[in-house]
Amino acid sequence: DEEVHKSIVQLPTSPVPMMMIGAATPEQEQEYLLPSVDGKLHYAFGQTEPNAGSDPGGMMQTRAVLDGDDWVINGTKTFISGATSADYILLQAVTDPDKRQRGGITMFIIDNPSPGLSFDPIRLWVNPGKAQQFTVNLDNVRVPQTKVLGNVGDGFTLGQKWLVHHDRMLRGSMATGILSRALEMAIEWAKERVTYGRPIADRQAIQYMLTDVYTDIMTLRSFTRETAARADAGEDVRVEASMIKYCAGEWGWRSIDKIMQVFGGTGETLDLPIAHWYHILRHARIGGGTSEIHKFVMARGLLDDRVNFQG
Ligand SMILES: Cc1cc2nc3c(=O)[nH]c(=O)nc-3n(C[C@H](O)[C@H](O)[C@H](O)COP(=O)(O)OP(=O)(O)OC[C@H]3O[C@@H](n4cnc5c(N)ncnc54)[C@H](O)[C@@H]3O)c2cc1C
Repeated sequence: DEEVHKSIVQLPTSPVPMMMIGAATPEQEQEYLLPSVDGKLHYAFGQTEPNAGSDPGGMMQTRAVLDGDDWVINGTKTFISGATSADYILLQAVTDPDKRQRGGITMFIIDNPSPGLSFDPIRLWVNPGKAQQFTVNLDNVRVPQTKVLGNVGDGFTLGQKWLVHHDRMLRGSMATGILSRALEMAIEWAKERVTYGRPIADRQAIQYMLTDVYTDIMTLRSFTRETAARADAGEDVRVEASMIKYCAGEWGWRSIDKIMQVFGGTGETLDLPIAHWYHILRHARIGGGTSEIHKFVMARGLLDDRVNFQG
């Protein structure tokens, strides 16, 4: 993942719906998972709602009610990336309002198009020309019971496991991939750019920005790799995954800001990928759970005595 993010040219790969692995029925594997691995189908993930962003488990309102052999889903999801181009949406809806995130939210596989499913584009500063995020409206969308992913009521846990092991940890390698290429470019630039008779690389003000970025990369990379190894060994790394996500956003953003500063005005042009990376790393403080929410997760780990910081 780190190597992939050293370039802004996207590889022709398709995101694999990892949360299906181990949860999908044999029929769902054939119909959705394997074609997705082959890049023939694309999916979107629908959790966030207009009133349920940071607290989806407690605030989710999209409701699924069983009617004969089908679930009937009504509600609104928002900020759903790639929703219109997705062949199916893995979407969470409340099936038991009393239990909510503790057994009352279910993950559905919703084919796109489906009757009752519609989209409204959202314009973001990162891509004002072409929307990539959408509000998803569900108006009596009927989903057969065979399209429930995992067990009824397990959908929130399924989503959280995927977010911890894939989304959060992968943001660490995304940030180190971007920053290591950006630092390489900045070093080259600093050696060539001359002001007042000397390359800017000779100035301590510039050297300190480069060393700050270098420190962020090395620290985040080793922590991400250590946590990934611990996750592979079956350890509970929920708190550490939040720390990686938090650092990827906060350090990624502060570091790419320094890189842009080293490049001066050239760093703001679209001739270089710096501004594009700036957008991505600024977004990393919000998407996939905000920095504040990940600090909240870390604080709970600390106060509940669930983490070891003694070394
Ligand atoms: C480009 C983009 C792509 C996205 N893609 C997807 C997607 O594909 N699928 C999907 O489901 N969602 C997606 N999202 C939604 C994203 O996950 C949410 O925007 C994010 O979780 C924050 O929720 P919110 O926007 O409702 O902010 P809010 O929850 O309204 O938070 C607003 C502010 O309050 C702070 N805050 C909230 N609660 C607390 C608290 N308890 N303590 C301290 N501070 C708090 C937050 O940190 C934030 O600063 C995407 C968002 C964007 C912008």
